[in-house]
Amino acid sequence: MFKKILIANRGEIACRVAATARRMAVQTVAVYSDADAHARHVSACDEAVHIGGSAPKDSYLRWERILEAAKATGAEAIHPGYGFLSENDEFAKACADAGLVFIGPPPSAIEAMGLKAQSKQLMEKAGVPLVPGYHGADQDPAMLAAEAARIGYPVLIKASAGGGGKGMRVVDKPQEFDAALASCKREAINSFGDDAVLIEKYVQRPRHIEIQVFGDTHGNYVYLFERDCSVQRRHQKVLEEAPAPGMTEAMRKQMGDAAVAAARAVHYVGAGTVEFIVEQKPDGAMSFFFMEMNTRLQVEHPVTEAITGLDLVEWQLRVASGEVLPLAQHELRITGHAIEARICAESPDNQFLPATGTLQVFNVPKCVRFERSAPGAALTASVRLDAGVAAGDAISPFYDSMVAKLIVHGQTREEALARMDAALGQTHIVGLQTNVQFLRHVVRSPSFVNAQLDTALIPREQAVLFNQEPVGLLLAVSATVAHILLVERGLEGVDPFSRRDGWRSHGVQVRRFAFAFHGETVNAALTYLHDGGLHLAIGEGGASDVAPMAGSLTVAAVGGDIDVQFANRRNTVSVYRNGDSTHVFSNQGATQIIVIDLLSHAGDAQDEGGRLTAPMPGKVVSLAVKVGDKVQKGQPLAVMEAMKMEHTLAAPHDGTVTNLFFAPGDQLTEGAELIRLSA
Ligand code: ADP
Ligand code: ADP
Ligand code: MG
Repeated sequence: MFKKILIANRGEIACRVAATARRMAVQTVAVYSDADAHARHVSACDEAVHIGGSAPKDSYLRWERILEAAKATGAEAIHPGYGFLSENDEFAKACADAGLVFIGPPPSAIEAMGLKAQSKQLMEKAGVPLVPGYHGADQDPAMLAAEAARIGYPVLIKASAGGGGKGMRVVDKPQEFDAALASCKREAINSFGDDAVLIEKYVQRPRHIEIQVFGDTHGNYVYLFERDCSVQRRHQKVLEEAPAPGMTEAMRKQMGDAAVAAARAVHYVGAGTVEFIVEQKPDGAMSFFFMEMNTRLQVEHPVTEAITGLDLVEWQLRVASGEVLPLAQHELRITGHAIEARICAESPDNQFLPATGTLQVFNVPKCVRFERSAPGAALTASVRLDAGVAAGDAISPFYDSMVAKLIVHGQTREEALARMDAALGQTHIVGLQTNVQFLRHVVRSPSFVNAQLDTALIPREQAVLFNQEPVGLLLAVSATVAHILLVERGLEGVDPFSRRDGWRSHGVQVRRFAFAFHGETVNAALTYLHDGGLHLAIGEGGASDVAPMAGSLTVAAVGGDIDVQFANRRNTVSVYRNGDSTHVFSNQGATQIIVIDLLSHAGDAQDEGGRLTAPMPGKVVSLAVKVGDKVQKGQPLAVMEAMKMEHTLAAPHDGTVTNLFFAPGDQLTEGAELIRLSA
């Protein structure tokens, strides 16, 4: 086994590889760009080498730098992760030339599978079933059009060098062929520097089912069963699962054997994935066709680890160091069902536009890495989160928008699904847009629940997937008011019922709030009752057309969560403030609500006959006036920081400043007098 390896990647996959290496007592070297100077993958490794600027071409794709780093640190092998240099045969060759082991297949296998058209010619010879189509060298447009007609519309034009869902055009009718071909070639030359295309029959409502294969340097091959990756957006995977629902033993064996034949045909070594497109006949029969082979570890490999109880990175390291495959085909078993969700920084309601920002909050479900006591033994953990980030980290525009992968395992698909829903519910991200709520809608959609999987699932279920608001206004407002009250008491995370003294009203009977919820203003009034209780009225006298609702409000802090009971409905919520926005997460989903100008609506607490008091505990940030200044109503007097945000205290009426009781930096207790104005 290697003593030290270099991981030529970043993010979650670099952390993932480092974790296995550590478990196997293999030392690790990270490489990093400017943007990643403080990234998790750097601290996850034993050593780290800076290799250049933030853009991938200045760092993670600069292989001479990476080879130098390996030499300088004495690493014996390089793990390329996925993306970046993982499918670059020249890099694999350069590693060998430098006396380093490339943890992946031989360069010849990468090259053979690198272009979709050439790999199809090879697969045809190896007897692997292909999608009906054209994958020849002749690229004459008229000939391609004639081929499309022969194959029969609709057809799919694919860039031979394509990947990551790019460089594909579906063509429905002959009249559209020429324009689609031209635009596909344009995209292909821009993205991949190669405009060769192939044409395939466009399979209707297909499933994407892929087979994980493994080979060693001794000529042994196994398949580690299948993954269904049919749930896609823009031809990119969103949810993956194993085993594939509806898979029969016979078909699994056929597909597994075909995948092994594909690997054998190119003398494959290490981890690889053979992707098939599966056509579903109306009678339920399925036929599968080779699409491409990905000559690396796949993003979704954890679902295979979950159902087999194996660590695929461990297998990669063993195979790369010359060991025989740890298990033979007959020793491999499927246990239970696993699902992976890709958590991405993006806006599903806005065409999945990628988002950037800082993870102000990154709270994830409690998880334990999948562990096994013996090969093939049952798993001891059922929720796994693979991330390369933590709270406070930024998702920068330089790299992939994937924030983390959530993987669950259950004895049955139903159990895995319920666990995924719950785990997504416990995934709280504030600071940037993510697809977490969208993923929850997908796993709850009828198609997904009933395992009607095909690549059109997302468009088919769009009515329940997009622009959903599972947390209503009443819960959003009552939870936010509850949070404000708890934070004011400085009781965030503390159980207020250890002090059963009810709610104090600091001089006011009624406090008014204004919120913006989905662009609408909503007013709320909180009344402190004589018995120490609270009464909340929402939507009265506001500009909104919300039906008014009023009732008693009960608030309790439970761990870091809040139990809020309003108008006879009780919910446990997690609430986070980020500037003006409040993010409310409940079992149903999450929402965002804006607290408008909290203090100016905080009743007369600030102005008790010219006495300006702090309505909540906080700190004086700055004073805008000095004693003797004449001020006008509404003029800013001071800025205080409370509840992790700044608030401007404004003059409640015209007057002259007679006293300043605190200076910037001073701590204020609730109700402390800050400024006095003459009438
Ligand atoms: P699969 O492995 O299932 O085919 P993808 O094609 O989405 O899934 O995975 C490879 C993609 O991952 C690449 O297109 C690349 O954009 C992205 N990628 C590359 N390196 C990283 C990384 N370190 N962290 C996250 N994503 C990465
Ligand atoms: P990439 O290299 O971008 O991953 P693939 O050839 O693997 O390209 O195709 C990506 C996705 O496009 C597949 O998972 C599938 O959803 C869809 N697709 C590919 N080929 C076909 C086809 N012939 N008919 C229908 N859909 C297809
Ligand atoms: Mg693919």
